[in-house]
Amino acid sequence: MHLWGRKSRPLILFVAFAISLLVVLTQLEQVDAQTTCFTSVKPNSLLLSKDNYGRIISTSNNFLVAEADSSQLVLPNPQTHPLPRTLEQWENPTGADDYFSEIKPTPAGYLVWSEFPVKVYVERPTEPPEASASAKRFQYWFDDVLKAVEDWSIHLPLNLVTQAEDADISILRSSPPLKPVLNRETGRFDLPRARSAEASYEFYLREAVDAPYPILSHKFTILLSPDHIVEQTTATARHELGHALGIWGHSPLETDALYFSKVRNPPPLSPRDINTLKQIYQQPTRLGWPLVFNEERN
Ligand SMILES: [Zn+2]
Repeated sequence: MHLWGRKSRPLILFVAFAISLLVVLTQLEQVDAQTTCFTSVKPNSLLLSKDNYGRIISTSNNFLVAEADSSQLVLPNPQTHPLPRTLEQWENPTGADDYFSEIKPTPAGYLVWSEFPVKVYVERPTEPPEASASAKRFQYWFDDVLKAVEDWSIHLPLNLVTQAEDADISILRSSPPLKPVLNRETGRFDLPRARSAEASYEFYLREAVDAPYPILSHKFTILLSPDHIVEQTTATARHELGHALGIWGHSPLETDALYFSKVRNPPPLSPRDINTLKQIYQQPTRLGWPLVFNEERN
Protein backbone atom coordinates (compact mmCIF):
# COMPACT_ATOMS: atom_id res chain seq x y z
CA MET A 1 0.00 0.00 0.00
CA HIS A 2 1.36 3.40 -0.91
CA LEU A 3 -0.25 5.86 1.40
CA TRP A 4 0.76 8.85 -0.61
CA GLY A 5 0.16 7.21 -3.96
CA ARG A 6 3.64 8.09 -4.99
CA LYS A 7 7.16 6.89 -4.74
CA SER A 8 9.66 8.54 -2.50
CA ARG A 9 13.36 8.14 -2.82
CA PRO A 10 15.81 8.08 0.05
CA LEU A 11 17.92 11.11 0.63
CA ILE A 12 21.64 10.61 0.95
CA LEU A 13 22.07 9.19 4.38
CA PHE A 14 25.55 9.03 5.67
CA VAL A 15 27.15 11.96 4.00
CA ALA A 16 30.45 12.70 5.62
CA PHE A 17 30.72 16.26 4.48
CA ALA A 18 27.37 17.45 5.68
CA ILE A 19 28.73 20.80 6.68
CA SER A 20 25.74 23.01 6.93
CA LEU A 21 23.03 20.58 7.50
CA LEU A 22 22.52 18.34 10.39
CA VAL A 23 21.90 17.42 13.89
CA VAL A 24 21.11 14.77 16.32
CA LEU A 25 18.23 13.12 18.03
CA THR A 26 18.68 12.24 21.65
CA GLN A 27 20.00 8.84 22.46
CA LEU A 28 17.71 6.39 24.09
CA GLU A 29 18.70 2.97 25.15
CA GLN A 30 16.81 0.12 26.55
CA VAL A 31 18.53 -3.00 27.73
CA ASP A 32 16.66 -6.19 28.32
CA ALA A 33 16.84 -7.43 31.87
CA GLN A 34 18.03 -10.84 30.75
CA THR A 35 20.29 -9.62 27.93
CA THR A 36 18.22 -11.53 25.42
CA CYS A 37 18.38 -8.72 23.04
CA PHE A 38 19.32 -5.13 23.09
CA THR A 39 17.34 -2.34 21.57
CA SER A 40 18.86 1.02 21.00
CA VAL A 41 18.60 4.26 19.13
CA LYS A 42 21.74 5.58 17.58
CA PRO A 43 22.42 9.24 18.21
CA ASN A 44 22.38 9.65 14.51
CA SER A 45 22.29 12.63 12.31
CA LEU A 46 19.31 13.87 10.48
CA LEU A 47 20.33 15.27 7.17
CA LEU A 48 18.56 17.81 5.08
CA SER A 49 20.03 17.59 1.64
CA LYS A 50 18.81 20.73 -0.01
CA ASP A 51 20.11 24.14 0.86
CA ASN A 52 16.69 25.65 0.97
CA TYR A 53 15.69 23.33 3.76
CA GLY A 54 18.35 25.01 5.83
CA ARG A 55 19.65 23.23 8.87
CA ILE A 56 18.20 21.65 11.92
CA ILE A 57 19.09 23.95 14.78
CA SER A 58 17.91 22.19 17.88
CA THR A 59 16.37 18.99 19.10
CA SER A 60 14.83 17.73 22.26
CA ASN A 61 13.02 14.54 23.13
CA ASN A 62 10.09 15.12 20.91
CA PHE A 63 10.75 18.32 19.08
CA LEU A 64 13.11 19.21 16.34
CA VAL A 65 13.54 22.63 14.84
CA ALA A 66 15.04 23.29 11.46
CA GLU A 67 16.08 26.61 10.09
CA ALA A 68 15.05 27.26 6.53
CA ASP A 69 15.83 30.75 5.30
CA SER A 70 13.87 32.90 7.72
CA SER A 71 11.29 30.23 8.55
CA GLN A 72 11.38 27.06 10.58
CA LEU A 73 10.71 23.51 9.58
CA VAL A 74 9.46 21.33 12.38
CA LEU A 75 8.50 17.75 12.88
CA PRO A 76 5.00 16.84 11.76
CA ASN A 77 2.38 16.48 14.46
CA PRO A 78 1.67 12.86 15.41
CA GLN A 79 -1.09 11.47 13.22
CA THR A 80 -2.40 7.99 12.57
CA HIS A 81 -1.90 6.15 9.30
CA PRO A 82 -4.54 3.89 7.78
CA LEU A 83 -4.43 0.44 9.34
CA PRO A 84 -2.77 -2.06 6.96
CA ARG A 85 -5.37 -4.45 5.56
CA THR A 86 -3.61 -7.49 7.00
CA LEU A 87 -4.05 -6.10 10.50
CA GLU A 88 -7.53 -4.79 9.80
CA GLN A 89 -8.54 -8.34 8.88
CA TRP A 90 -6.89 -9.88 11.91
CA GLU A 91 -9.44 -11.48 14.16
CA ASN A 92 -8.36 -12.38 17.61
CA PRO A 93 -9.13 -16.11 17.61
CA THR A 94 -8.97 -16.82 21.30
CA GLY A 95 -10.11 -13.59 22.87
CA ALA A 96 -6.53 -13.09 24.05
CA ASP A 97 -5.47 -9.73 25.42
CA ASP A 98 -2.32 -7.78 24.56
CA TYR A 99 0.70 -6.12 26.15
CA PHE A 100 0.33 -2.74 24.52
CA SER A 101 0.88 -1.04 27.88
CA GLU A 102 4.51 -2.24 27.72
CA ILE A 103 5.20 -0.46 24.44
CA LYS A 104 6.98 2.85 24.54
CA PRO A 105 6.67 5.54 21.91
CA THR A 106 9.95 7.07 20.70
CA PRO A 107 10.66 10.79 20.23
CA ALA A 108 9.08 10.39 16.80
CA GLY A 109 6.09 8.50 18.14
CA TYR A 110 5.26 4.85 17.63
CA LEU A 111 7.53 3.02 15.17
CA VAL A 112 4.83 2.43 12.61
CA TRP A 113 5.58 1.68 8.97
CA SER A 114 3.28 3.43 6.55
CA GLU A 115 4.51 2.32 3.13
CA PHE A 116 4.10 -1.31 2.21
CA PRO A 117 5.55 -3.73 1.55
CA VAL A 118 8.26 -3.00 4.09
CA LYS A 119 11.59 -3.81 2.45
CA VAL A 120 13.67 -6.38 4.33
CA TYR A 121 17.25 -7.31 3.57
CA VAL A 122 18.72 -10.52 5.00
CA GLU A 123 22.46 -10.94 4.60
CA ARG A 124 23.18 -13.73 2.14
CA PRO A 125 26.03 -16.18 1.79
CA THR A 126 28.31 -15.30 -1.10
CA GLU A 127 29.29 -18.91 -1.77
CA PRO A 128 27.08 -21.94 -2.46
CA PRO A 129 26.51 -24.09 0.64
CA GLU A 130 28.52 -26.97 -0.81
CA ALA A 131 31.62 -24.77 -1.10
CA SER A 132 32.63 -25.01 2.54
CA ALA A 133 31.42 -25.76 6.04
CA SER A 134 31.19 -22.08 6.84
CA ALA A 135 29.14 -21.42 3.69
CA LYS A 136 26.80 -24.19 4.79
CA ARG A 137 26.38 -22.67 8.25
CA PHE A 138 25.69 -19.32 6.67
CA GLN A 139 23.00 -20.91 4.47
CA TYR A 140 21.35 -22.49 7.53
CA TRP A 141 21.38 -19.14 9.27
CA PHE A 142 19.83 -17.46 6.21
CA ASP A 143 17.11 -20.11 5.91
CA ASP A 144 16.27 -19.80 9.60
CA VAL A 145 15.99 -16.03 9.40
CA LEU A 146 13.73 -16.32 6.35
CA LYS A 147 11.30 -18.40 8.40
CA ALA A 148 10.93 -15.51 10.81
CA VAL A 149 10.35 -13.09 7.92
CA GLU A 150 7.65 -15.41 6.59
CA ASP A 151 5.98 -15.62 10.01
CA TRP A 152 5.58 -11.85 10.19
CA SER A 153 4.68 -11.36 6.54
CA ILE A 154 1.31 -12.95 7.23
CA HIS A 155 0.50 -9.93 9.36
CA LEU A 156 2.31 -7.10 7.58
CA PRO A 157 3.35 -7.05 3.91
CA LEU A 158 7.12 -7.58 3.73
CA ASN A 159 9.29 -7.80 0.66
CA LEU A 160 12.81 -9.24 0.52
CA VAL A 161 15.32 -7.03 -1.23
CA THR A 162 18.79 -8.06 -2.34
CA GLN A 163 20.64 -4.83 -1.50
CA ALA A 164 21.01 -3.58 2.05
CA GLU A 165 20.88 0.05 0.93
CA ASP A 166 17.37 -0.46 -0.46
CA ALA A 167 16.05 -1.90 2.78
CA ASP A 168 13.91 -0.48 5.56
CA ILE A 169 15.04 -3.31 7.81
CA SER A 170 18.46 -4.95 7.45
CA ILE A 171 19.24 -8.22 9.21
CA LEU A 172 22.98 -8.77 9.36
CA ARG A 173 24.88 -11.90 10.39
CA SER A 174 27.03 -10.38 13.04
CA SER A 175 27.43 -10.53 16.79
CA PRO A 176 26.35 -7.37 18.60
CA PRO A 177 29.26 -5.51 20.21
CA LEU A 178 29.69 -5.86 23.95
CA LYS A 179 28.77 -2.68 25.74
CA PRO A 180 29.81 -2.07 29.34
CA VAL A 181 26.90 -1.22 31.61
CA LEU A 182 27.23 0.98 34.68
CA ASN A 183 26.41 -1.00 37.79
CA ARG A 184 24.67 1.48 40.07
CA GLU A 185 25.43 -0.50 43.21
CA THR A 186 29.15 -0.90 42.73
CA GLY A 187 29.73 2.19 40.60
CA ARG A 188 31.76 0.06 38.22
CA PHE A 189 31.21 -0.93 34.67
CA ASP A 190 30.14 -4.52 34.12
CA LEU A 191 30.77 -6.29 30.87
CA PRO A 192 27.50 -8.01 30.04
CA ARG A 193 27.24 -11.53 28.71
CA ALA A 194 27.46 -11.85 24.97
CA ARG A 195 24.17 -11.01 23.37
CA SER A 196 22.72 -12.92 20.49
CA ALA A 197 20.99 -9.98 18.87
CA GLU A 198 20.51 -6.26 18.80
CA ALA A 199 17.93 -4.11 17.07
CA SER A 200 18.52 -0.42 16.55
CA TYR A 201 16.83 2.28 14.57
CA GLU A 202 17.68 5.64 13.20
CA PHE A 203 15.69 8.47 11.77
CA TYR A 204 16.32 10.18 8.47
CA LEU A 205 14.56 12.48 6.09
CA ARG A 206 13.32 11.08 2.83
CA GLU A 207 12.62 13.35 -0.07
CA ALA A 208 8.98 13.44 -1.07
CA VAL A 209 8.11 13.49 -4.74
CA ASP A 210 4.95 15.52 -4.48
CA ALA A 211 5.22 17.20 -1.10
CA PRO A 212 7.34 20.33 -0.59
CA TYR A 213 9.17 19.04 2.48
CA PRO A 214 10.89 15.75 3.26
CA ILE A 215 9.24 12.93 5.15
CA LEU A 216 10.39 11.85 8.60
CA SER A 217 11.39 8.22 8.15
CA HIS A 218 13.17 5.43 9.97
CA LYS A 219 15.37 2.44 9.24
CA PHE A 220 16.15 -0.58 11.35
CA THR A 221 19.31 -2.65 11.64
CA ILE A 222 19.25 -6.03 13.34
CA LEU A 223 22.53 -7.71 14.25
CA LEU A 224 21.99 -11.41 14.69
CA SER A 225 24.68 -13.76 15.94
CA PRO A 226 26.13 -16.17 13.36
CA ASP A 227 25.98 -18.99 15.90
CA HIS A 228 23.51 -21.48 14.64
CA ILE A 229 21.49 -23.18 17.31
CA VAL A 230 18.50 -25.15 16.12
CA GLU A 231 15.29 -23.11 16.50
CA GLN A 232 17.01 -20.27 18.32
CA THR A 233 18.04 -18.34 15.22
CA THR A 234 14.47 -18.26 13.92
CA ALA A 235 13.12 -17.41 17.37
CA THR A 236 15.61 -14.61 17.90
CA ALA A 237 15.00 -13.22 14.41
CA ARG A 238 11.25 -13.38 15.05
CA HIS A 239 11.69 -11.47 18.30
CA GLU A 240 13.92 -8.79 16.78
CA LEU A 241 11.72 -8.40 13.72
CA GLY A 242 8.84 -7.77 16.11
CA HIS A 243 10.80 -4.79 17.46
CA ALA A 244 11.57 -3.59 13.94
CA LEU A 245 7.94 -3.81 12.91
CA GLY A 246 6.93 -1.55 15.78
CA ILE A 247 6.76 -3.56 19.02
CA TRP A 248 9.24 -1.39 20.92
CA GLY A 249 8.90 -3.14 24.25
CA HIS A 250 8.54 -6.62 25.71
CA SER A 251 5.89 -9.01 26.83
CA PRO A 252 5.94 -10.29 30.42
CA LEU A 253 4.62 -13.70 29.27
CA GLU A 254 6.96 -16.38 27.95
CA THR A 255 4.28 -17.64 25.56
CA ASP A 256 4.77 -14.50 23.44
CA ALA A 257 7.50 -14.08 20.83
CA LEU A 258 8.34 -10.69 22.34
CA TYR A 259 8.93 -12.13 25.82
CA PHE A 260 11.88 -10.27 27.31
CA SER A 261 14.05 -13.33 27.84
CA LYS A 262 15.18 -16.37 25.97
CA VAL A 263 13.20 -19.56 26.56
CA ARG A 264 14.07 -23.18 25.97
CA ASN A 265 11.20 -23.85 23.59
CA PRO A 266 10.56 -20.60 21.76
CA PRO A 267 6.89 -19.96 21.00
CA PRO A 268 5.53 -18.98 17.58
CA LEU A 269 3.88 -15.60 17.16
CA SER A 270 1.02 -15.48 19.61
CA PRO A 271 -2.40 -13.80 19.31
CA ARG A 272 -1.16 -11.39 21.98
CA ASP A 273 1.80 -10.43 19.77
CA ILE A 274 -0.53 -9.63 16.88
CA ASN A 275 -3.11 -7.87 19.08
CA THR A 276 -0.29 -5.67 20.34
CA LEU A 277 0.99 -4.98 16.83
CA LYS A 278 -2.50 -4.01 15.70
CA GLN A 279 -2.90 -1.61 18.61
CA ILE A 280 0.44 0.01 17.78
CA TYR A 281 -0.59 0.59 14.17
CA GLN A 282 -3.65 2.50 15.41
CA GLN A 283 -1.47 4.99 17.29
CA PRO A 284 -0.39 8.42 16.07
CA THR A 285 3.19 8.90 14.94
CA ARG A 286 5.33 11.59 13.36
CA LEU A 287 6.94 8.95 11.13
CA GLY A 288 5.79 8.81 7.53
CA TRP A 289 4.58 12.42 7.50
CA PRO A 290 6.35 15.39 5.90
CA LEU A 291 7.98 18.14 7.93
CA VAL A 292 5.93 21.31 8.16
CA PHE A 293 6.70 25.01 8.38
CA ASN A 294 6.30 26.33 11.87
CA GLU A 295 3.43 28.63 10.88
CA GLU A 296 1.44 25.63 9.75
CA ARG A 297 1.82 23.88 13.05
CA ASN A 298 -1.35 23.69 15.09
ZN1 LIG B 1 13.81 -7.64 22.74
